[in-house]
Amino acid sequence: MASKARPLMIILAIILLLAAAAAVFLWPFWEGREPQITLTPTPLALGRENTLDLKVTDQERGLALVKVALIQQGREKVVLQQEFAAPLLQRNGQTEFSQKLTIKPLELGLAQGEASLVVEARDRSFNNFMHGNLARREFAVKIDTIPPRIGVLSRNIYLNRGGSALVVYQVSPDAQEHGVSVGAHNFRGYFAWPDKPGFAACYFAYADDLEKDAPIKAWAKDQAGNQAQASLNMHLRWKKYRQDKITLSDSLIQALAPRFMSLAPPDVKGEAQVFLWVNSKLREINHQKIASVCAQSQPKELWEKTFLRPMGKPMSGFGDRRFYYYQGKEVSTAVHRGVDLADVANSPIPAAAAGKVQFAEMLGIYGNCVILDHGMGVHTLYGHLSSLEVHPGQDVKQGQRLGLSGATGLALGDHLHFSVLVGGVFVNPAEWWDPHWITDNLELRYKEAGLKRP
Ligand SMILES: [Zn+2]
Repeated sequence: MASKARPLMIILAIILLLAAAAAVFLWPFWEGREPQITLTPTPLALGRENTLDLKVTDQERGLALVKVALIQQGREKVVLQQEFAAPLLQRNGQTEFSQKLTIKPLELGLAQGEASLVVEARDRSFNNFMHGNLARREFAVKIDTIPPRIGVLSRNIYLNRGGSALVVYQVSPDAQEHGVSVGAHNFRGYFAWPDKPGFAACYFAYADDLEKDAPIKAWAKDQAGNQAQASLNMHLRWKKYRQDKITLSDSLIQALAPRFMSLAPPDVKGEAQVFLWVNSKLREINHQKIASVCAQSQPKELWEKTFLRPMGKPMSGFGDRRFYYYQGKEVSTAVHRGVDLADVANSPIPAAAAGKVQFAEMLGIYGNCVILDHGMGVHTLYGHLSSLEVHPGQDVKQGQRLGLSGATGLALGDHLHFSVLVGGVFVNPAEWWDPHWITDNLELRYKEAGLKRP
């Protein structure tokens, strides 16, 4: 009995061992983790043309299928269907799939109104009778391919190179963002009259470094990204800027460079090299910071009448093209985007207009620096101060003391560097303290539109 049973037992044991080995090998093929789907931005409304970034990942067996479809009133329109081939017993297939989706609802034959955007992804798991784990995300979207309306209420608009302008316009209630574009610069408009919905005003500027014929358009965009444009009756006055040759002496470099040694990267060595780095790279870094500070603004005008011109003798003007020479060679160029005014040392520096302190700290070439927000995208900047007497968030009146003049940052003698910015673009400050310019270019715009200055 025992001698007969032994071979059977051995065969049984081998079968069991093989089954166990197969189970160990195949077990991961039954994994139960479904793929992960991300769609950015999260779609809420789909306009004429939409781009969405789709990313699908599956950490274990890998992807078998990704499908994107729009469903409206029971009808399905497939946007994308992608199958992933891999041998059945290969452990890992494709674990990641990224695709830029372009969806054009009109070309797909969809109507205006509600629809569902459905993303499905299946993996290669043996789960669900070999059908895999299914991930499904459904987004309720509104199909809207009709652009908003925009109508300009201003007549002739005069604009200087490096100068500012204002336009008043009316948009339909579906407009979510609106403003003016000048070349590559986009200026945001504001609904400045709470009791007059749809009426908006936008301050914009012609940056001093733009080409002569940069296109200028008013625009409005709805939630679905549909955009409408309107032309403006623009009259651009071209202006040539002063060219300044600045000779860098060793004593000037020795006076200024040590202030910035700790800011320069370690591969920038020697005072002359540090000076050149400050004049180009640090200037650029500081201007990026200023642009990000000026991206925030109150949605109403915080000031009245005209700007106050700070005291002092003008030392250099807006838009001056500066060419720096060292040991007989041109080594650096920069554009001066403000005015320099020199009075007695440690002069009190007044706020040019009422506003809110947006920034008050050390800022590279500008030294101790204050930036005020005057609302609707208009800011003023005060540089090289020896002391700061205000703090961010503080409301200031016109003429209120911000600090004392000085020579901090990239400055040799005590002076104020004063800049005005519109939508983050440096503009000629002189326009803003000229009452005639304010009357002809700001107040007239409101009057033409039959509106009060907000
Ligand atoms: Zn300056």
